[in-house]
Amino acid sequence: MDQQLFERVYEGVVNRETTYEGIYYTAVKTTKIVCRPTCRARTPHATNVTFYPSLEEALHAGFRPCKRCKPEENGALRPDAALAAQVDAIIEEQYATKLTLAMLAASVAISPYHLQRIYKEVTGYSPAEKTERVRLAHAQRRLAETNDGIADIGATVGYGSPSYFTSWFYRRTGISPTEYRNGHRGGN
Ligand SMILES: [Zn+2]
Repeated sequence: MDQQLFERVYEGVVNRETTYEGIYYTAVKTTKIVCRPTCRARTPHATNVTFYPSLEEALHAGFRPCKRCKPEENGALRPDAALAAQVDAIIEEQYATKLTLAMLAASVAISPYHLQRIYKEVTGYSPAEKTERVRLAHAQRRLAETNDGIADIGATVGYGSPSYFTSWFYRRTGISPTEYRNGHRGGN
């Protein structure tokens, strides 16, 4: 978004204008909350604001819907998609911990059974699979871009046992973490 447009939309937020209602969503970095542009809560500083053209994108980026202006209501999102996006944000935040289906379900206040079914319907895979994908992406990035030890990397993506991490990595990619690292270092 260019600066001019940003200023125009921000001006609308300051004045609680309805011009951009349903067009932009106000995400506030300091509170990790996303609002409608007309929200009655205290106006956030421009430097802390990012405008998203859809609520889905804001939720995927880890923002939670404001409890006051409820941006998810009135058809802004299909509720199932909103739920899946919320779960994705939680996984992105907590992939390093022992995330279970029960814990995820508790944080979005539905039963594990329903969470599993709805999430799979929206995304095509389970929350557990999503967690593994996020862990793998983080592990691969750190293997390729850092010199951190393999055991360290395993621990930071949720696998405290290095041998478990190595065999898990192998199962997902067909190569070991060391081979993956060497392949991304041009053999250095
Ligand atoms: Zn709000």
